[in-house]
Amino acid sequence: MRLQSSQGGQTGQQAIPIIKPWLGEEEAAAAADVISSGWIAQGPRVAEFERAVAASVGAAHGVALSSCTASLHLALVVLGIGPGDEVVVPSLSFIATANAPRYVGAKPVFADVTESTQNIAAETIEPVLTTDTKAVILVHQAGVPADIDAVHDLCDPLGIAVVEDAACAIGSTYRGHRIGRHSDLVAFSFHPRKVITTGEGGMLMTTRPDWADRIRRLREHGMNVSAASRHESRYLLIEEYLETGFNYRMTDIQAAVGLVQLRRLDAMVTRRRELAGRYREALADVPGLQVVDDPPWGTTNYQSFWVVLPDDLPTSRNDILRAMMQERVSPRRGIMAAHLEPAFADEAVASLPVTERLTRQSLLLPLFHTMEESDQEHVVAILKSELGVA
Ligand SMILES: *Cc1c(COP(=O)(O)O)cnc(C)c1O
Repeated sequence: MRLQSSQGGQTGQQAIPIIKPWLGEEEAAAAADVISSGWIAQGPRVAEFERAVAASVGAAHGVALSSCTASLHLALVVLGIGPGDEVVVPSLSFIATANAPRYVGAKPVFADVTESTQNIAAETIEPVLTTDTKAVILVHQAGVPADIDAVHDLCDPLGIAVVEDAACAIGSTYRGHRIGRHSDLVAFSFHPRKVITTGEGGMLMTTRPDWADRIRRLREHGMNVSAASRHESRYLLIEEYLETGFNYRMTDIQAAVGLVQLRRLDAMVTRRRELAGRYREALADVPGLQVVDDPPWGTTNYQSFWVVLPDDLPTSRNDILRAMMQERVSPRRGIMAAHLEPAFADEAVASLPVTERLTRQSLLLPLFHTMEESDQEHVVAILKSELGVA
């Protein structure tokens, strides 16, 4: 194994990035076709992408939006959540999860996560429920499926809604089915840091046709007739604005790219699982190192490959990150914890010992479709050398 990178010569350029979207000529051609058509805003390609994603994950309806963050916001809007309400979220997540309740004036209440999945679970949600709890945002962190049924068993009898933040989890499965069909509202992201990408973009899946209609209206300023329908109509259509909406639209250029990406999803997940399997094997002999794995109830797409460092480290997590960056490898710290950020300093937070340990002691290793086996060996060699394992 080589410790000195032999690739490239440009200073500052990372030879092994954390992720690299797998895009080809087909995506470029699909975007070009849309541009040539003259209709580039939300239109027929967006509608087609919505049907394709819904069919692919087994959801009744999909509404394409500008991001997963916008999807989480509109999920809470259609649930009627507002000031005085509490929404349970993991602190151990990308900050967008904890921000969503605030967009509707509600209070995020942080639940701790379980060690094995880095996800919140029925047993960590239950202690933080109050009579003001209106919803739980269940995150499938890094693509690892949370135990969805157990959370519904807890929340459904109490009338608490479950929104799945599946930003990272397209192509992951729960009890034999793709994530996207197990709750009334499930939000995906198509940011390049996730698995399939449209540059920016998201989609909110829902079981309810009335909610799908309302989400479509809310993404387009609250208007009752879309711009695309007016464009297509041979008759005069004057729109009405039924409520205060937003501009959360996706463009047809993005959707055209997404349609090609969606056809690559199986291949991407297969490749990610193969590379993850190789990491798991190569790291199996590191004492005390915890490595991401499938939970008993499903399969992960390995959107991120996390490792949790042993407690009695000879070095610090950040020193390991620095050592990797010096070797032209670009890892990342583990999942952030929102309650430790200044933006959430004013929230009273119960103790979150597992969250705090995981955010301090974990890191994410590079994993992307075109990664070479020699790249992986290089990453593993640096990590082992930093951990004092031969
Ligand atoms: C990336 C991410 C988001 C935000 O997705 P965007 O599409 O960038 O808005 C939300 N939640 C989680 C868990 C994420 O990882």
